[in-house]
Amino acid sequence: MSTPPDDGVPDGYFAILDPADPAVMTYWRVTAGRVTPWPRKAWWGPARPLKRDAPAGMEERIAWMRSWQTAYRAWAATVHQLLAADPGPARRRFAELTTRCCDCGRVLHDETSKTLGIGPDCRDGISPAALAALFAPAVSAAHAAQADTPVTRTESSR
Ligand SMILES: [Zn+2]
Repeated sequence: MSTPPDDGVPDGYFAILDPADPAVMTYWRVTAGRVTPWPRKAWWGPARPLKRDAPAGMEERIAWMRSWQTAYRAWAATVHQLLAADPGPARRRFAELTTRCCDCGRVLHDETSKTLGIGPDCRDGISPAALAALFAPAVSAAHAAQADTPVTRTESSR
């Protein structure tokens, strides 16, 4: 099931523990803010309801389906929040667990790419600082904020 675009999650590939089952790693692709399972045919989250488990009555069947949809949407919203809050580690995890580029999803071949978690085409022209920001945006934001803070000189330092 794909979900509506979510402004909070940057494009790329991500791996995150299932918030409802920490024994399961889930994989996601984000394109133009749209979050979809990876690989394309994978299913993560609450299991899809089976027709044979559906209640007989029409109204009961609708309520049963709605209750599953509500549960799935809540689960998906949690995944999106976790990805949006800290996308860097989830990107890094995807690259490490799949040996694929966290940006385009292609298989990484050389050692440098595997270490960086991003392929040569995708990192072309990206500065080391920007690469670091890709995986640890919170850390680089803190550094940037610190660099922007004007240093107040004391009388004695003049
Ligand atoms: Zn790539």
